[in-house]
Amino acid sequence: MNEKKELNIILMGPPAAGKGTQSERIVGKYHVPHISTGDMFRAAIAAKTPLGVKASEYINAGKLVPDEVTIGLVEERLSQDDCKKGFLLDGFPRTIPQAEALDALLAKMGRRITHVILLEADDKVLTSRIVARRVCPKCGASYNLETKKPKVEGVCDNCGSTLIQRKDDTAEAFKVRLDSYAKQTYPIAEHYRKQGVLSRIDALQDIGSVFSDIEKALEA
Ligand code: AMP
Repeated sequence: MNEKKELNIILMGPPAAGKGTQSERIVGKYHVPHISTGDMFRAAIAAKTPLGVKASEYINAGKLVPDEVTIGLVEERLSQDDCKKGFLLDGFPRTIPQAEALDALLAKMGRRITHVILLEADDKVLTSRIVARRVCPKCGASYNLETKKPKVEGVCDNCGSTLIQRKDDTAEAFKVRLDSYAKQTYPIAEHYRKQGVLSRIDALQDIGSVFSDIEKALEA
């Protein structure tokens, strides 16, 4: 496929800015595989693989998993056939070394990132959102006790599993994650702005308006 038609997307933004919800919409419309490093780590933890055991101590404390572990995981995933026409990266890259490793990896494949969508939101609003977040441990669906309630309280609409609050959604771990986003991840926006592929979007609009801004950015 012509490189211009590839949609090699990074979706970034602070934790709880709505990346999961917008990812579902992007995947539904543009049919690119959703690659969430957070989901991949949680699956490894649930399966008790060596990667999961290693990652869990960092994740439960709200800290980033070391770059070499994370980069290896993404490299393996991007080399799979379903990523040939494009992909949606959610939660990766999260540090400048990860962004540089990603650029180098794609360059080896004769490809590049075509769009970086930056969801922007205020820390205070995000903190109040996070305490209301519940997730499905089985299929990864995300709910909010105020704005996106499941049809039956405490039960996943998609698969019927009991919803949980993530261990890293406590106030202490969330503060660590917000700080780590500001220090380590936000500079990535500048890295991609210089490449001319960055779009900034107000994440505090309603879900439909955020998605409509994303569509404009991807189709521009
Ligand atoms: P998320 O679901 O994207 O918020 O990820 C949950 C947790 O997984 C993060 O708080 C990190 O501990 C870890 N994680 C996910 N993606 C990365 C990454 N790209 N680099 C390092 N750690 C990550």
